[in-house]
Amino acid sequence: MKFSVLAGFLEKIESATKRSEMVRVLSEIFREAEAEEIDKYVYFCQGALGPPFKRTVIGLGEKMIIQSISRATGLTVQDVTKQYIKLGDLGLVAEENMGEGKEDADFLYVYGALQSIAEISGKGSVEGKINSLTKLMEKTKPKGAKYIVRFVEGKLRLGAGEATIIEALTVSVKRGRELKNTLERAFNICSDLGLVAKKLFLEGVKGVKEIKVKPGNPIRPALAERLTSPREIIDKIGRCAVESKYDGFRCQVHKKELEVKIFSRRLEEITDALPEIVKGTKKQIKAEEAIFEGEALAFNEETGEFYPFQVTIQRKRKYGVKEMAEEFPLKLFCFDLLYLEGTSYLDKPYIERTKTLMEIIKPGETLKIAERMITENPEELEKYFEDRVEKGLEGIIAKRIDAPYQAGSRNFNWIKLKRSYRGKLTDTIDIVVVGYFKGRGKRVKLGIGAILGAVYDEEKDLFRTVAKVGSGLSEENWMKLKGVLDKEATPNKPARVDSLIEPDVWVKPVYVLTVKADEITRSPNHTCGMKNSEPGYALRFPRLIGWIRGDKGPEDVNTVKEIIEMYKMQ
Ligand code: ATP
Repeated sequence: MKFSVLAGFLEKIESATKRSEMVRVLSEIFREAEAEEIDKYVYFCQGALGPPFKRTVIGLGEKMIIQSISRATGLTVQDVTKQYIKLGDLGLVAEENMGEGKEDADFLYVYGALQSIAEISGKGSVEGKINSLTKLMEKTKPKGAKYIVRFVEGKLRLGAGEATIIEALTVSVKRGRELKNTLERAFNICSDLGLVAKKLFLEGVKGVKEIKVKPGNPIRPALAERLTSPREIIDKIGRCAVESKYDGFRCQVHKKELEVKIFSRRLEEITDALPEIVKGTKKQIKAEEAIFEGEALAFNEETGEFYPFQVTIQRKRKYGVKEMAEEFPLKLFCFDLLYLEGTSYLDKPYIERTKTLMEIIKPGETLKIAERMITENPEELEKYFEDRVEKGLEGIIAKRIDAPYQAGSRNFNWIKLKRSYRGKLTDTIDIVVVGYFKGRGKRVKLGIGAILGAVYDEEKDLFRTVAKVGSGLSEENWMKLKGVLDKEATPNKPARVDSLIEPDVWVKPVYVLTVKADEITRSPNHTCGMKNSEPGYALRFPRLIGWIRGDKGPEDVNTVKEIIEMYKMQ
C-alpha cells in the first residue's frame, strides 16, 4: 500500500464521529494490507514500531523535527516555529508546506525508514536522524508527511484502542463474535496485537489458537472485583484464600535462564528501575524459566516497616536508580505463578499455582510469599481483614481456590476488600479527560474552569461521561493542565466518546486523572450507565487529587460497571 493511501485512511479515522466508522476504516486498511506485513500496519496504527511492551524510541525531539521540516520545505526554522504556534500541530505545518513531489513511497518503505531512524545512535546521531527524517518526508506526498511527523512526535493518536483494533481485525475477515473471543484470548496471553493479526492472516484461526505463553511477552493481568463485606465474599465464592493486599505496584517477572524482565501493570518494561528484584529473582527462583507476579513495596530496614505508597511509587523512575535502590529497597510479595519450565499455569487452579510458587521460591531477602489464610468463615475473614488494616496494609484480596488465572479479565475469582470501602464513598475514581470548559468569573483568566471526565464502557468500548470536575488544583496547575490538554484538543467529539454534554473544547481521551467524590448519584446529564429511559450515574462533589497519571491509559480508568457497583454499595 502506498503511504499516501494509508494517510487517506488515517484522515478518515480521524474525522470519524462514531466508533463503528472507525472500526470500518481500520478494517479496510487491514484488508488492503499485505498479509505478511499486517503486523506492521497494526503497530503503526497503535503509534508504535512493535508491540507496546517493546516500545522503540525514535529519539527525535521537537526541535529536531522542526529542523527536518525546515529542510524539507525550504522554510526557515523561525517560520516553521511561527506556523507551529499558529496551527498547534507540526504535522499540519509539514503538510501545508511540502511540495507535491513525484515520489510516493510504500508504507513498508516508510516503516523500515522509521525503524532505521530509531536505530541511529552514538556520535552524530542527532544530525543523522534529522537528515533521515527530511529525506523520508521528501519521499511521500504532503498528507503522508503530516502523519510521519505526528508519528515521530508520538502524537499519532488515532483513538483506536486494543479492543477497537481486535474488532476491526474480526470485521476485516468477515467473522463474528467467536473469532473476536479467540483473538482476545490470544492477545491476553501475548500482549502483541501485531502477532495475533499475523497469525490470523497467514494461518487462520488455528494459528491464532496456537499462540502460547512465552517468557518475554507479558501476560495481561487478571484483575479483581470488589465487595464490601466478608459475608458477601463468602456467599459469593465460599471457602477461599484470603491474601494481604499490599499497597505498592504490581510486577510481572519473567525469568528465562539468566535473563530477567519485569513488566508493570500496564505491561511496560520496568526492569532497569528494579535491580534488586532482578537480583533477587536470579538468587531465589529455583527454576530455569518462570513467569510470576507480585506486588513491590519499599521497605524501611531501620524501622522494619513499609514506606507509604508515595515513597514506593518513586521507585518506578528511570534516573538515580542505584541511589534509590539503596535508600528505598523493595521487597516483592509474590502472589501468583503463570508459567513454569515450558508449561503454562494459567489454566491450573489457584491452589496448585500458589503451591508450586511456594516451592520454587527459596527463602531470601527480596522475594517473599504474600501472606494468606484459608477460610469459609466470615468472622474469621473479618478478623484477618482488621488485623491487616491495623498493620497498615490496604486490606485483603479473597481468591477462589479452584479458579484459573484469567488473563486480562476482571471477575469474582479475585475480590478486593479495602479499608476505604467502609462507610461512604471514599475510594478514589480514575477518569479520562474528554473535554474542558473555559473558565467563568475568577477562572476566566485561566482559560479553564472544569474538565469533563469519563469512565470506560468495556462492553461497548466507549468512554461515557460521569463528572464535570472543577476543583482540586491550584491556579498554576489548572493552567498547566490546560496547556497539556490543548495539545490533544480536537474540533469534534472524539469517535469513542459518548456524551450529552458539550464542553467548550473536546479533548482526545488520553489523560487519566484521579478524583475523589462524596457519592455517586443518578443523573440525566451523564451517559455513564444510561439506558433508554433510565438516567445515568454521576459523581457528586468531585475534586481532582494528584496530577495526570502516567501509569494508566484511557482503557485503565474505572469502568461503567464498577461505578454502578459502587453506587449500589453506598
Ligand atoms: P485494578 O488493579 O483492580 O484495576 P487498581 O489499580 O485501583 O485497580 P487496586 O484496587 O489496588 O488496583 O487492586 C488490585 C491491585 O492490588 C492489583 O493489581 C495488585 O497490584 C495489587 N495487589 C496487592 N496485593 C495483592 C495480592 N495479594 N494479590 C493480587 N493483587 C494484589
